[in-house]
Amino acid sequence: MRPFASTIPVEEARRRLADAVRPVDRTELLPITEVAGRVAAADVSAQLFVPPFARSLMDGYAVVAADTASASREASVRLEIVERIYTGQPPTQRVSSGRCAEIATGAPLPEGADAVVMVEDTTADGHDAVRVLTAVTPGQHIGRRGADLSPGDVVVRRGDLLNPSRIGALAAVGITEIDVFVRPRVALMSTGNEIIRPGDGLAEGQIYDVNLYTLSAVVSAHGGSAEPHDATPDVIDDLEVALDRCADADIIVWSGGSSVGEKDLILDLVRRRGQMIFHGIAVKPGKPTAFARMGDAAFFGIPGNPASCLSNAYILLVPFLRATARLPLDTPRVVRVPLAKRIVSSAGRHHFYSVRLEHGSAMPAFKGSGDITSMSRADGYIEIPEDQGTVEEGTAVTVTLF
Ligand code: AMP
Ligand code: MG
Repeated sequence: MRPFASTIPVEEARRRLADAVRPVDRTELLPITEVAGRVAAADVSAQLFVPPFARSLMDGYAVVAADTASASREASVRLEIVERIYTGQPPTQRVSSGRCAEIATGAPLPEGADAVVMVEDTTADGHDAVRVLTAVTPGQHIGRRGADLSPGDVVVRRGDLLNPSRIGALAAVGITEIDVFVRPRVALMSTGNEIIRPGDGLAEGQIYDVNLYTLSAVVSAHGGSAEPHDATPDVIDDLEVALDRCADADIIVWSGGSSVGEKDLILDLVRRRGQMIFHGIAVKPGKPTAFARMGDAAFFGIPGNPASCLSNAYILLVPFLRATARLPLDTPRVVRVPLAKRIVSSAGRHHFYSVRLEHGSAMPAFKGSGDITSMSRADGYIEIPEDQGTVEEGTAVTVTLF
């Protein structure tokens, strides 16, 4: 055993991680059908007007507004219909005083007209005329050319998250492809002699790999490109070979072997190949987590216990990955509910304690760091500070949902 010299508070770990972020600079050109959730790598400006022509915002009649000045339900104004304009069809007639054109929502406004009377404010007068029952002012119910966007307007800025509305804005100006930042490459690997792939037969002493799959899901959900590697036994030379295979990723996340036992070789690997930024955080679960720089990659050595691994993935990896991907901070949902049962936290460390939401209260769900059900049967976690031993039943707690 090689005991921890010291641990750092979780806030200090987060600060050091934030300082170590290197946002990705590589970009790729993608069709707009494939960029949801990605980040724009360049400003995009409109090259045309949206809408490209003045259009009616209502079904009704395109008129000369002045003609309607005296119109009311009691004293309607009769206008002759010169044509009927549907969408996608250019008008062929000019509208002049005493005349109008029937027009559909989205159809181009005919020349001479400067307002639209809604069909609800008219009554038919035979086939070729209409009676206007209300006055309209110039511009009323008209979408002017360029009302939405004009040439030169910025549609999307470099660094903008491409959410549905921004993808829509790109489509509106006719853009089909956009440069986005690549997803950071995240090399994932489990270490340990006992770890085998789900589906293979279990020999005595072996367990199925959990962490590769939890980490992969977290990485995909937060803008990374997960690159799974075969599990590697606790043999330093094998770990070095595996590290070479992972070396061109932006972020390397390995689980297992990050603690202080004789077979925990991550420390030795960092000593040989990288610079340690921290090792040991005053959190439960997840104390023996290491973070280092390995060449150009950031390296996370996360403990193998599945609950510890996933907890630290949420708390430490997610913010780091999102910043690397240039994504905005994650804003997990929180709910404030009473605690259903007293919790005794003897950790002496900041405890991320998993809970399940049941009947409007938070039921303790944490079993042990080694149990994936500590997480899979929970909906989120509460935080119990280092200096707090117990949380009484009925206390209002803030649950951060996974
Ligand atoms: P370690 O961090 O290597 O000391 O492992 C701590 C505990 O987590 C041990 O019981 C390991 O067998 C278990 N463990 C390590 N890696 C994994 C993994 N990828 N999936 C499931 N359990 C693991
Ligand atoms: Mg191990």
